[in-house]
Amino acid sequence: MVMKAKDYRAQLEPVWCTGCGDYGVLKGLTQAFADLELRPENLGVISGIGCSSRLAGYTRSYSFNSIHGRALPIATGLKLARPELTVVVVGGDGDGFSIGLGHIPHAIRRNVKITYAVLDNGLYGLTKGQASPTTEQDFKRDRGLAGVEERPLNPLLLVLSSGCGFVARSHAGNLPHLRQMFREAMKYPGFAFVHVLAGCVTYQTPSYAEEIYRRCDLLPETYDASNFAHAVEAARGERFALGVLYRRPEGEAPAVLPAALAGEGGVWPPTPEAADLPPGDAG
Ligand code: SF4
Repeated sequence: MVMKAKDYRAQLEPVWCTGCGDYGVLKGLTQAFADLELRPENLGVISGIGCSSRLAGYTRSYSFNSIHGRALPIATGLKLARPELTVVVVGGDGDGFSIGLGHIPHAIRRNVKITYAVLDNGLYGLTKGQASPTTEQDFKRDRGLAGVEERPLNPLLLVLSSGCGFVARSHAGNLPHLRQMFREAMKYPGFAFVHVLAGCVTYQTPSYAEEIYRRCDLLPETYDASNFAHAVEAARGERFALGVLYRRPEGEAPAVLPAALAGEGGVWPPTPEAADLPPGDAG
């Protein structure tokens, strides 16, 4: 029987706000399941806690809307116990890059075949719009509880520097592209990371998703995804590069992030003030 995207939807109806970017991600993911002709009984969709983490329960799969920030170890255990399953982890930027951050480099270095999709809307939606690790400093909010002083974390540099063998980015408003990125990620024989830019229509300005989309560029067709240096360059760009930034060639060891990045726009760059402090005082 030929499966369609709707065949991977659970009976539960999403409770996301109308216009939330997470609807697009659910659509793109279920389309990719259908493209790969996966059987629902061979699928595990694991999530943490947050608006986007509700997605697991909306799929027809072995789904588990688990514990805040702990989806990766749960998914790793599932994949090791049931290697025949296709295992996908979904969660938000708060769930993944704040409370769950400690699990990401370890999941990457174990390189168990899991697809990890972070639906990044730059805030905590479920708890009413607080700043997350990816909130931009010039973020204009209509509503919300907290401002942001810190520079945002760069998710792609984070996973590249941890040795991730497959790194892609897409946008919740570009369904064909999103579907393709999920397909590619699930076919990759190790840990695959997909950064999905997704708008929150309730705690950002109504035009935020369009603003972000205008800052996106598709990687050119001539782009060489096996080149780690190019991936780092694309990840550091001020505009959002969409596509497969990096796919490590089979048999190649993880590359190392150039040390020069530590002082200029790396994953956790020091603030100019901290850089002036004598050694030992920088915290
Ligand atoms: Fe989506 Fe934001 Fe509504 Fe959460 S609060 S469901 S992220 S639009």
